[in-house]
Amino acid sequence: MRGFLQKEAVPHREQWEQDGKLDREFWRKAAMQGFVGFEAPEEFGGLGIQDYRFNAILLEETCYAGLLPDHFMLQNDVLGPYLFELASAEQQRRWLPGFTAGELIAAIGMSEPGAGSDLRGIATTARRNGDGYVLNGSKTFISSGTQADLVIVAARTSDEARASNAFSLLVVEGDMPGFERGRKLQKIGRANQDTAELFFNDVHVPAGNLLGDEGTGLRNLMRNLARERLAVSVAAVAGAEFAIRITLEYVKDRTAFGTPIGSFQVNRHALAQMTAELRAARAYLDRCIEEEVESRLDPTEAAGLKAWTTELQWRVVDRCLQLHGGYGYMDEYEISKQWRDARVQRIYGGSTEIMWEIVGKSLGL
Ligand SMILES: Cc1cc2nc3c(=O)[nH]c(=O)nc-3n(C[C@H](O)[C@H](O)[C@H](O)COP(=O)(O)OP(=O)(O)OC[C@H]3O[C@@H](n4cnc5c(N)ncnc54)[C@H](O)[C@@H]3O)c2cc1C
Repeated sequence: MRGFLQKEAVPHREQWEQDGKLDREFWRKAAMQGFVGFEAPEEFGGLGIQDYRFNAILLEETCYAGLLPDHFMLQNDVLGPYLFELASAEQQRRWLPGFTAGELIAAIGMSEPGAGSDLRGIATTARRNGDGYVLNGSKTFISSGTQADLVIVAARTSDEARASNAFSLLVVEGDMPGFERGRKLQKIGRANQDTAELFFNDVHVPAGNLLGDEGTGLRNLMRNLARERLAVSVAAVAGAEFAIRITLEYVKDRTAFGTPIGSFQVNRHALAQMTAELRAARAYLDRCIEEEVESRLDPTEAAGLKAWTTELQWRVVDRCLQLHGGYGYMDEYEISKQWRDARVQRIYGGSTEIMWEIVGKSLGL
């Protein structure tokens, strides 16, 4: 993976940031190496490897190369479980060969203009009609939204206001009439990942594109969100480790008042403390990865891990930028990109406040 990224990704990084989206040729090459959808059965082009340590290493190596792990995270860690575990045999035959070949890009549409943290507020509706559903509504902030060939859409299939069984997951394919893509949203960071609005105007979705049983959408979203939060945590810890690494190089080299800035006690202690905190985070993260490998990662644990590691990443990159002085604010310095890209980690996949709500409720509060 490390060699592959150096050869096929690092030289193109700037171009991808300008393009603001996934380079599909790169993605096909990654798939050829077995880095995409490898959990899928071999008959569908996967490797049949269901061991989260492989997923984690792909994310970590991407972060250590100074790249964004978003595409690996989104396709392998977030979308994969829906297709591997929820899709029927017939759906797997239709979608998995393209997915594992890097030809088919998937996206997940939960968030709406009026409902992000509060998924029970989803207003998109899917009404039964003949041999399928008629889908109406809109989604926003959807990663890979401008180019996804397949979008898993969370929609309301019942009028019961906030009932757990009022939601279902429907797979919308890119060429379905009535499916329209809105703006590619301009963001602070994560430049090589497109984020878009999606609109559904009387889209006829055949019953064969219902993912899981009707009414189980919310339950399945919640189940898969645990792994999404673990993935964000892997990227948070690896991103912070990378920030420390580049900052150590900088503070040993840059001098002020005739001495390297890292040798001032205040800076030395800051780096020492962050290093110790990251070692603790690494140990806790690795334990959660082991639990995921054994299919027993508790969603509450994943929520707490996500909140703690992403807040830690933010503190680390912000302090590391400070240690770069004015250069840290310049685009040409790597730490500025790390800082911009880290900010959203505390928001997507469930904000820190929502994560603490989940943990707090588990304490009976
Ligand atoms: C770059 C990016 C990519 C994304 N990709 C996707 C994607 O692919 N698919 C998808 O479905 N979504 C995606 N999202 C959406 C993301 O998951 C939501 O932005 C996130 O869940 C927060 O929802 P919201 O933006 O509606 O904020 P809101 O829910 O409006 O929250 C606003 C603020 O209120 C706080 N808040 C809300 N409720 C409570 C509470 N009960 N207690 C305390 N504080 C509270 C929140 O923590 C937050 O600080 C993406 C977002 C971004 C920015």
